[in-house]
Amino acid sequence: MSIKLIRYSPWLVHFNTGACNGCDIEVLAALTPHFDPERFGVRLAPSVRHGDILVVTGAITKKAAVRLKRLYDQMPNPKFVVAIGACACDGGVFKGAYSILRGAKEVIPVDAYVPGCPPRPEAILYGIVKLFQKIELLAKAKSK
Ligand code: SF4
Repeated sequence: MSIKLIRYSPWLVHFNTGACNGCDIEVLAALTPHFDPERFGVRLAPSVRHGDILVVTGAITKKAAVRLKRLYDQMPNPKFVVAIGACACDGGVFKGAYSILRGAKEVIPVDAYVPGCPPRPEAILYGIVKLFQKIELLAKAKSK
């Protein structure tokens, strides 16, 4: 899919790298009709191979890092990553633990960060909408 089209129908892949489930519950809440993400064209992809945006929650353990990289590699280009919650952003409360990396950025490129422990559904949607601005800028730069 072209980068311009992703802006209008971004399909999400959600990967929990070992979260306490706080962030996951908020991601699920953000996807409900109450917050209506489909008004932005956002919906869950049926498979990682159909995903455009990888949504990462949880502390990135060294074990999960291998799977996170594999999932990212299986997504078609162009693809984007949003780190949801303090743990996925920089390790959060687990920062400095022997088995925890300092965020998803240590494994894959991250395009947007949504801090919070956990962030509210509105913040998650706001982060994804901010990512759209980046995608639009990239699409404009590519078309020149
Ligand atoms: S950021 Fe907070 S709510 Fe989210 S996974 Fe980490 S500890 Fe749980």
